Amino acid sequence: MADIIRLLPDHVANQIAAGEVVQRPASVVKELLENAIDAGATEIKLIVKDGGKTLIQIVDNGIGMSVTDARLSFERHATSKIQKAEDLFNLSTKGFRGEALASIAAIAHVEMMTKTETDEVGTHIKIEGSKISSQEVAVVPKGTSMLVKNLFFNIPARRNFLKSDQVEYRHIADEFHRVALAHPQIAFHFYSNGSEVFMLPSTDFRKRIVHIFGRKTNEKLVPVHEDTKVVRISGFVHKPEFAKKSRGEQFFFANNRFIKSPYLHHAILGAFDGLIKPGTHPGYFLCLEVDPGTIDINIHPTKTEVKFDDEHTLYAYLKSAVKHSLGQFNVVPALDFNQDPNLNTPYGYENKQVTTPHVSVNAGFNPFQEDTPTASRGGGYTKTSAKGWENLYEGLQVNKQEFEPSTIAFESEEINSTIFDHEKNQVDAVTTTFQLRKKYIITTIKSGMVVINQSRAHQRVLYEKFLKNITIKEAVSQQLLFPLSLPFSSGELEILKEIKDNLCAVGFVFGEINSETVEVKGVPVVVVESEVQMVMDQLISDFQMEISADSFSQSDMLAKTLSKTLSVKTGEFLDQKSQIALVNDLFACKEVTLSPFNKPTYITITENDIDRKFI
Ligand code: ADP
Ligand code: MG
Repeated sequence: MADIIRLLPDHVANQIAAGEVVQRPASVVKELLENAIDAGATEIKLIVKDGGKTLIQIVDNGIGMSVTDARLSFERHATSKIQKAEDLFNLSTKGFRGEALASIAAIAHVEMMTKTETDEVGTHIKIEGSKISSQEVAVVPKGTSMLVKNLFFNIPARRNFLKSDQVEYRHIADEFHRVALAHPQIAFHFYSNGSEVFMLPSTDFRKRIVHIFGRKTNEKLVPVHEDTKVVRISGFVHKPEFAKKSRGEQFFFANNRFIKSPYLHHAILGAFDGLIKPGTHPGYFLCLEVDPGTIDINIHPTKTEVKFDDEHTLYAYLKSAVKHSLGQFNVVPALDFNQDPNLNTPYGYENKQVTTPHVSVNAGFNPFQEDTPTASRGGGYTKTSAKGWENLYEGLQVNKQEFEPSTIAFESEEINSTIFDHEKNQVDAVTTTFQLRKKYIITTIKSGMVVINQSRAHQRVLYEKFLKNITIKEAVSQQLLFPLSLPFSSGELEILKEIKDNLCAVGFVFGEINSETVEVKGVPVVVVESEVQMVMDQLISDFQMEISADSFSQSDMLAKTLSKTLSVKTGEFLDQKSQIALVNDLFACKEVTLSPFNKPTYITITENDIDRKFI
């Protein structure tokens, strides 16, 4: 048999390698940013278009390359960073595989301009699908500019696999955050589709965090410091009360490199144990410095997991360092120079007269009496209508009946509930209800009774209402007496801009939006003013994961989030009128049986069921 084994041509080998190195535009951004940092740049500019699919450009003022190096840099296994295998155990650079440029050049149109300090002129190289198409002398400043266009132009399957521009942009922004946080002393500029996203001056770690995540972050941070023989720990954790529902702001850096470590993450969770509500996640920005010989950076190009020699010790140190910081912050706030001013005792207090505490007793208290309605909740079920404030409501077509949910004409279509279909008379006649354990509403039907989960039922009602508002754009806004100015980070602002149209459709009214704050002038009627920030934060964190380009799923997600956040919760007392209104509203919905999250809204217990229990 003839010999059949052949060496793959370089461009094919490069394309295969590219599959590992470059998964999406964000991988290119990461590799090129790291090269710029390895080149000693003090200023780096990142420009992207269409989520990096059309263009990614990175300009640095680092050491640049000579003509020969410029050409060699695109060869596979061409690196200036290691020479022998032992060097792998003492890495101080980000790159070392010498594969990134070769891989990128195999699957995109690449242009590089570069010049060293000492060379008079620089080099301009164009390369497409691993082939150099031109090489010229160029007059350029010291440093390197890499231009990557039309990613995956020659691998349509990979190109089609990319997500929407917004999603790809978010991956790039995440990568950018990681690199920018790991190197606060380097100045970064980031532009997307022609507009400036970040302009980060050279600074310290704390200010870098604040520049990226917004002004309001500053007061959330508690410093962490621990110096031991094995590791130097520095950075910040969020104060426990700022723990979030989403796991957004959690960063570990080891020797200035972003890493993921579920094990060390667990150490942080341990330190926060008992301090944060279940289901919420602490924020942290922690830097570990260890001897480069004791850390094994994953050889896989895109993996961020690393292996530490003595992980157990590190775990213990980390947990105690974070615990210590949190303890110090809680117990002796005076020692914390970055303390929250709210924790201070006002100066006047020292001389204040001591008064005997006064306990007031309600002599008429009857423990067996039902509770009185609690403070107003969204949805209007316990809200007394805002009489006299009508003039504050925007929109001429305001229908005052909005405030009486029982009278909202929901859908003009036939009510199509399964139980009520043939019991139509009862629908109009729901007049008796009973609230069980502030959780269920019970009402009777001809064949027996229905037990309605109040929270899920209200979610369903609100969900359909918001979805309808979005689709037919007839939401009713409640104008705020004093517009609120809410702080957001630039990442959050990006998301807000994406969903702004839909937010307006459900009744939000926005004023000026600048680089750090958003002015909110009006909110949907069901939103209480004190909850606006909470509602917006929840919306952003829900959308943070994935913004869909498709407008239906965006509306759907918005309606879901709002219904979840604003619904009456288990544990809330509803007065008789609200109970009846909720039941009627639920059974006027298009889909009665399920909450927007596909959970049953009610169960029926027939007379037969009950009879059987008595046998
Ligand atoms: P690696 O970073 O693993 O060495 P790359 O393919 O990313 O491999 O880069 C190959 C080589 O090209 C680097 O080792 C470096 O010498 C050179 N290089 C790449 N980017 C730059 C840059 N921005 N400035 C200076 N030199 C660079
Ligand atoms: Mg590299």
